[in-house]
Parts: sequence; structure tokens; C-alpha cells
Amino acid sequence: MEKDCLFCKIIAGEIPAEKVYEDERILGFKDIRPAAPFHALLIPKEHIPTFNDLGEAHDAMMGGLLRAAAAIARQEGLDEGYRLVGNCLKAAGQEVYHIHVHLLGGRGFNWPPG
Ligand code: 5GP
Ligand code: ZN
Repeated sequence: MEKDCLFCKIIAGEIPAEKVYEDERILGFKDIRPAAPFHALLIPKEHIPTFNDLGEAHDAMMGGLLRAAAAIARQEGLDEGYRLVGNCLKAAGQEVYHIHVHLLGGRGFNWPPG
């Protein structure tokens, strides 16, 4: 737990969030400013600031995170498709420096993204 990290505070229960998934390594919760009819964030319970900080020891956890995203999409009926987004550093729009993957669904998406 990193004391000034918003997502660590959500994991610790210090800030409320609408949970959609939880296991021993991963938490999923609704984004507070949804950019689609369904918008959740998947985070590791371990504080890792950016994707650049991932090591080999995180491989299984990150695989589990992606499988959790697919399980949530299935559970939410996003059968037509969904988008996973991971913003790394400032130019990509990363606001919270605790790794998270956005799961967006319930509408169509353009390519390339903005
Ligand atoms: P980033 O821009 O870092 O990829 O995404 C951060 C996301 O966290 C944003 O989509 C933002 O809406 C979401 N967010 C920021 N603060 C909170 C919060 O307190 N609770 C929840 N549930 N989401 C948050
Ligand atoms: Zn954190």
C-alpha cells in the first residue's frame, strides 16, 4: 500500500468504489467518470506505478487481470465486443499512477483511438 495512492486507498476500503470483481491479486470496480455505458477499472492489489515497472514476477498476475476483464465482459453481456485500454505515462493520459486497465463496453469504438 502506497499511502498517497488513490487506488491503494480503494483497495484498503478507505475510499468507496462499486466493485465488479475481486480475487486475491486483482480488484475490479466501476470508473467514477464513465466513458461508456459500462466502464470498469482492473487493478492489481500490489502498488505498481506504471506498465514500465512490471517485472517477470508479475506475469501471472497480469494474465489473471486480463482473464478477469474477459470474465466481467461476459458477465455484463458485452457480447458484441469491448475495449481494454492501458494508459502509460503523461502523453497517453495516465492520471493515476497505479497500473489499471480500462474495460469499456456497451457502445461502438473508433480506431485509431484519440
Ligand atoms: P487514467 O487516465 O489514469 O488511465 O485513468 C484513471 C481513471 O480513474 C479515470 O478514468 C478516472 O475517471 C478514474 N478515477 C479517478 N478517481 C477515481 C475514484 O476516486 N474512483 C473511481 N472509481 N474512479 C476514479
Ligand atoms: Zn497504489
